[in-house]
Amino acid sequence: MFTKAKVAVFLDGCFWHGCPQHHTRAVTNAGYWAEKVIRNRERDAETDRLLTEAGWSVIRVWEHDSPNEAANRVAEEVRTRRAKR
Ligand SMILES: [Zn+2]
Repeated sequence: MFTKAKVAVFLDGCFWHGCPQHHTRAVTNAGYWAEKVIRNRERDAETDRLLTEAGWSVIRVWEHDSPNEAANRVAEEVRTRRAKR
């Protein structure tokens, strides 16, 4: 969390958060896992909504994203927000 700039960063696991590229349903109990992942995604969306309403920028980084690219996105967002005030 970058408290001053109000930028919240989440690192989402590909399986648990239903990454479009890497989430493959578990072979057994597919329904059970799918339901858990759907609930996670709903919770993520709710978290994003609450933070956005409170004036935060939300950045979600997938587990598979390159750390450099993710760091750049965060730095860029922090810079943009600082420039606005
Ligand atoms: Zn992924």
